[in-house]
Amino acid sequence: MHRLVLVMTNAVDVFNRALQILRVPPNISCADWADEHFYLSSESSNTSGKWKTTPVQKAILNSFGNDSIEKVDFFKPTRFGGTKMDIAVMFYFIAHKRRNVCFYQPTDNDRDEFVKAEIQPAIRDCPVVFDKLLSKQDKSSDNTLSYKAFTGCNAFFKGGHTSKSYERMTLDCVILDELDQFASDVGGKGDPSTLSWGRVRNSLFKKQITTSKPTLEGFSLIEKTSKSALDLLLFYVQCPCCGGFAPIEWGGKDVAHGFKWQDRNADTVIHICKLCGQGWGNEKLGEALQTGYWQGENGYKTYDGLEWFKDDKPCEPPRHIAFKCWSGYSQLTTWVQLVQEWFDALKDIKKIQAFTNNVLAETWSLENKGSLTDELIEGILPVDDLSEIVAITAGADVQDDRIEVQYVGHDKHNNIYILGYEIFYGDMNDGDVYIKFGTSVLEKRYKTGDKVRKVAHCCIDTQGHNTQMVHEFLVQNRKKHKHLFIGINGTANSTYEIADKAGSYKGVKNSQFYSIGVNVIKQKVFNAIKNYDQETHAFRIWSGATLPRDYAKQLTSEKMEVRRTNGIDKIVFTNKKQARNEALDTLVYALAGKAYIKKHRGRLGKRMFD
Ligand SMILES: [Zn+2]
Repeated sequence: MHRLVLVMTNAVDVFNRALQILRVPPNISCADWADEHFYLSSESSNTSGKWKTTPVQKAILNSFGNDSIEKVDFFKPTRFGGTKMDIAVMFYFIAHKRRNVCFYQPTDNDRDEFVKAEIQPAIRDCPVVFDKLLSKQDKSSDNTLSYKAFTGCNAFFKGGHTSKSYERMTLDCVILDELDQFASDVGGKGDPSTLSWGRVRNSLFKKQITTSKPTLEGFSLIEKTSKSALDLLLFYVQCPCCGGFAPIEWGGKDVAHGFKWQDRNADTVIHICKLCGQGWGNEKLGEALQTGYWQGENGYKTYDGLEWFKDDKPCEPPRHIAFKCWSGYSQLTTWVQLVQEWFDALKDIKKIQAFTNNVLAETWSLENKGSLTDELIEGILPVDDLSEIVAITAGADVQDDRIEVQYVGHDKHNNIYILGYEIFYGDMNDGDVYIKFGTSVLEKRYKTGDKVRKVAHCCIDTQGHNTQMVHEFLVQNRKKHKHLFIGINGTANSTYEIADKAGSYKGVKNSQFYSIGVNVIKQKVFNAIKNYDQETHAFRIWSGATLPRDYAKQLTSEKMEVRRTNGIDKIVFTNKKQARNEALDTLVYALAGKAYIKKHRGRLGKRMFD
């Protein structure tokens, strides 16, 4: 029985092989075909000449051309050659497989420009495609911007913004370039992926290729269409340090691996390996890519897009697969350039979004749009000039093992200058730590232009830890240094910045504190940072300031949201991750110090800020 089955299998194999030999033309993979026949035209490329498939592009191109794979989605970064890959596979289908193809661009205008600038020079420079073009004359009805007839097949070029573009044609392959720029619902008939799939559904060799830089999370069309893929593959490279395989990652400040640099100097960028923690440079990229492979969380793996593995066992190619990589894999740019672009993006939250979409090929969360990001704060270039400052205040927060204090300068134009930060550790039931803190605030001096300024007021939160000790400290110091240390009590719902009258604390004789409107002041902080631009920014960090390592992160620990209760909109601040936020609190308290000057220092306050 077993023997018989074996014989039968062999017979089928022999038959299949015979069939393959009979097939004309001989089978050649898309990447091999492109290397042999595809050219980069001088009009549309920085480097003209013969196309050479890179190790990262190989499996994507071969999946595009693989008859067993029906749908391929590619999250493509800039400067990776993504659009050229779309053209290469289209030519492969026309010249090698004689398939009917439609290439979609977002609009008719995009299509016109694309065909003139990219397709026509590419056909001219690619002899095997040019030879199959039925009419070599541009004016012929067989050779227009929207339709070109070839020996044995047709090629259409369409703008994807009207439902008409998805009617009538009988196709084998549809290619949608820059999918996220398409309308998400075309004329009320559906999304472009679904509509174009309708044109190829009945083909024996049905194929849909979508490529795009992603846009907004939840709205991105490439994200949506790739959700039904059997796997999302990332490219794993061999680490030159430890020999292990892992994706190249941007990383970010919060993780230990990925791109890292020193002292804001892009030239120092290296990639820190997730597996061994060692760093390697851009010059080793070419070699590292050679042995790389694509792998996804669902267990699919391929080296070349032709042979596939599932959980390390050979398998049929997946019917629908998605690829994602970012510009860090590209040999058309350098890592130094990418980091320089990042520094440039840090000036503006919109540029951070563009970098995220285009270079990292990641979607951008709408949540980021409405809130502060620590990148935004890190991108603020420090200022040297403190000459406009008219007053300095401090804000202090008492924790159960330390006092944190932030020093802030104010000018007449509501600009905020972050001057410094100190943390005093100690036993909070003991007076020593209060004395150390008090002395430091008292002796603090900043040179602002020609003047040397002292701290005018230091607001201390009396509500947190050790209320009793804090009030005792305040009462003792009020006699010696009138107005220097002010007790405050934060309230969320007050509409003022600081109350008109002081309250008192039962436990300590002669104690007093002012209620402050925390949310009113926080809104000012958020607006100051978000409105940041280099010329008129309201939030400035002094170049001489020493700040905690995670200062930016602490400042962005809370999100500003509008909540409607009983028909009234109210702004609330939430700290979902329960992250440390003393930097934000002490900044708010320091700004309460400015409110104190304006409200409680009479003519002096007027003279300072009017
Ligand atoms: Zn390593």
